[in-house]
Amino acid sequence: MTEQPSPAAALVYSDELSQHVLNPNHPMRPIRLRYMHELMAASELLNAPSLLQAEPRMASRDEILLSHDPDYVDAVRAIGSGGIVPNMYEFGIGSGDNPPRPGMYDSTALVVGGTLVATQLVRDGKVPVAFSPAGGVHHHAMFNRASGFGVFNDAAIAIQKLVDDGLRVAYVDIDCHHGDGVQAAFYKTDRVLTISLHESGQWLFPGSGFVEETGSGIGEGYSVNVPLAPYTQDELWLRTFDSTVPPLVEAYAPDLLFIQLGIDTHFRDPLTHLQITTQGFTAAVTRLLELGRVNDGTVAVGGGGYDMGAVARAWTMGLASMAGFELPDSVPESFDAVAGLDYFEDRPGPVALDEDVAEEVERFAVRTVEAVKSTIFGRHGL
Ligand SMILES: [Zn+2]
Repeated sequence: MTEQPSPAAALVYSDELSQHVLNPNHPMRPIRLRYMHELMAASELLNAPSLLQAEPRMASRDEILLSHDPDYVDAVRAIGSGGIVPNMYEFGIGSGDNPPRPGMYDSTALVVGGTLVATQLVRDGKVPVAFSPAGGVHHHAMFNRASGFGVFNDAAIAIQKLVDDGLRVAYVDIDCHHGDGVQAAFYKTDRVLTISLHESGQWLFPGSGFVEETGSGIGEGYSVNVPLAPYTQDELWLRTFDSTVPPLVEAYAPDLLFIQLGIDTHFRDPLTHLQITTQGFTAAVTRLLELGRVNDGTVAVGGGGYDMGAVARAWTMGLASMAGFELPDSVPESFDAVAGLDYFEDRPGPVALDEDVAEEVERFAVRTVEAVKSTIFGRHGL
């Protein structure tokens, strides 16, 4: 009898995660996850023996409280059940980014629970890497308020649970926006190294994530920010990544690697200005998985991503890398949820930049890398 090979990766997903609508014009469309899942199915990835599929569960109130204020959690619960919370603005709810809506508590608790299931699968040694694509988009959520589409910060909650169990965690966030909520949660500790590679807050929400934000107290040197200029493309983005992320993660030698895989860096993304392709994204994911191999495992979450075709392709490609599954070059014809997708890779990618723009963008990245090296590397013996 041949032994069943153990799975290489897990996907934590259910269609329930894709069914709510924040409001009719909101750019964050959970339906994007259903398109992603349909593409994973159409390309046979979901049939791969190397893939374990798991259902999310609701996070408990106590779990959400690991990284949130009880008054805020109760306000979200009251709004989610249709209650009137007159001071909801104090909790960041009511703005265009974070509209109050029925079901708000339950749908977010399910996202948090999905990320907790993924984390547990890795901790239990069931898989070396688990992906919770509905997670990560809440990376702006703060201790006592919603922010930037984020309500309950699933990454911060899952990481806090690991820290409470005595583990040291490296969190790497490649979303186009600064991962400010996760950074804030662990700003004063050396038990979590946070690294965020993003479009500079000079041009983009949330207006933070500068190199000078390095942590405080014993956390000094454990918050790392790698801001880039608008129009940065694959080659420079990956070069900047290579100069900063692997040396720091290797020097820190965490017990577990936690990665946030926002794809709003994509050149077709309507909200942002970096110009990354799905193949550039996948190259970064491959590097992160390589880094995670030396640890006890890797937990991956999704993140931003507002171009439906980019989200479906990038996260399918990312999961295929995790599972060691070879995708075809072309998007299967049976996948028609998003029109006009011929290939998984972007062919063609963005147009080449004018020389003077390219030089300016390059100078910005070089300055960032030099600043990270001079302010952070010494703390880690580099
Ligand atoms: Zn984002």
